[in-house]
Amino acid sequence: MSDADAVLHDALDTVVQRNPGQVLYRQAVHEVLESLAPVVRQHPEYVEGGILKRIIEPERVVSFRVPWVDDNGVVQVQRGFRVQFSSDLGPYKGGLRFHKSVTEDTLKFLGFEQVFKNALTGLGLGGGKGGSDFDPHGKSNGEVMRFCQSFMAELAHHIGADLDVPAGDIGVGGREIGYLYGQYRKITGRNEAGVITGKGVGYGGSWARTEATGYGLVYFVREMLRDCPGLTLEGSRVVVSGSGNVALYAAKKASQLGATVVACSDSQGYVLDEDGLDLDLLSEIKDVRRERLSAYADERGNCTYFPGKNVWEVECDIALPCATQNELDGNDARTLAENGCRLIAEGANMPCTEEAIEVIHEKGILFGPAKAANAGGVATSGLEMRQNAGRLQWDFERVDSELDRIMTNIHATAAATADEYGVPGDLIAGANIAAFRRVADAMLAQGVI
Ligand code: NDP
Repeated sequence: MSDADAVLHDALDTVVQRNPGQVLYRQAVHEVLESLAPVVRQHPEYVEGGILKRIIEPERVVSFRVPWVDDNGVVQVQRGFRVQFSSDLGPYKGGLRFHKSVTEDTLKFLGFEQVFKNALTGLGLGGGKGGSDFDPHGKSNGEVMRFCQSFMAELAHHIGADLDVPAGDIGVGGREIGYLYGQYRKITGRNEAGVITGKGVGYGGSWARTEATGYGLVYFVREMLRDCPGLTLEGSRVVVSGSGNVALYAAKKASQLGATVVACSDSQGYVLDEDGLDLDLLSEIKDVRRERLSAYADERGNCTYFPGKNVWEVECDIALPCATQNELDGNDARTLAENGCRLIAEGANMPCTEEAIEVIHEKGILFGPAKAANAGGVATSGLEMRQNAGRLQWDFERVDSELDRIMTNIHATAAATADEYGVPGDLIAGANIAAFRRVADAMLAQGVI
């Protein structure tokens, strides 16, 4: 084993020893470290500065009790977390996830990923993530509001426009951000708009933030397709998983650019609509009425709902996993390859398992990793912070064109870095190395702190 390999191996070993049972965090770290051997070999200063040892340990993990009262007057208790992973490039930045599966493991994996993703945007953003095991499904507005208020009663002590800036993620959309920000204002007595992003455009939010992750994903795919002769978004057949924020706006942008988006899913099944999904109806059902995907099939007619089935069985040219981690495994990747899929880009965080990624490489499918491909959300959050700091609001077109520019740059950076380190076309390695170098250089410059 070379010295570089030994250092990387020790770092992963430390993660495993220190974080028993945290399998998602281990998977996320493994995926990054696996790419870093060439850069560690070329830059002994990273090893001498202890960068590998430092970068795998979050700066701070806050864990807290979140009591709230449900509509029946019964006291419920959830667990809340904020993982402040790295502030080397700027204030901690990353979303809040409300989902019954959330644990410290989930948020450490997401916080670690966020550090690298944020570095790729080129903006001054550190990395963090937070959330709770609260499940918003089936809860009334009043219950969601009381939960958000209790969650913020504690979180408010740990965040600030120059300190830590949360946003949305699974289970945290515009409604939740509104309740969270309202409670922050109430507690602090201040109008500190830059403390949270994803706000409504009427009270300090940015145009195009809602659309940004999905739109950004498709801008990234457009760039990837320049290396894929014979396939363009126009005329392609696309499948997305999920039907939440990222899935919906990825589908909208893909269809604006001429693709036919034939299928999407939720945790209970998928819908196949050969004519192309009616995205206004989908948005009305999922976003406004907060109903299940089965309602889409009932109302739309002439399409099929497959309860309990896996959306990756649908034939497509382009697959966009936009639901959750590890939702696309080795078998799914094989099925997609057999059905002629030529490009997979991750809208969700770590949706492809390690085995799926091996299969994707083996089959020669173009692959856009989450850190790069879904960075449009946080990039636009960075633009929202900028607008808040200047007390101004840009119009939709300006934010959208900045987003497009940032996604185009991220793709170019990942591709050029992959070339530079001898792995042309490997956007995982390119993104990991480029992001690592930016964070590592900032850590070296600021000393051992
Ligand atoms: P939403 O809550 O808006 O939507 C999530 C969607 O994924 C829903 O359709 C949900 O179905 C489905 N889903 C969630 N968990 C599971 C599961 N365990 N199995 C199957 N389906 C599931 O979340 P977002 O769209 O905001 O986030 C989706 C992904 O994108 C996440 O990985 C998130 O981290 C990532 N992301 C989000 C960003 C953003 O700006 N929002 C930015 C960058 C990444 P159901 O309703 O049935 O649970």
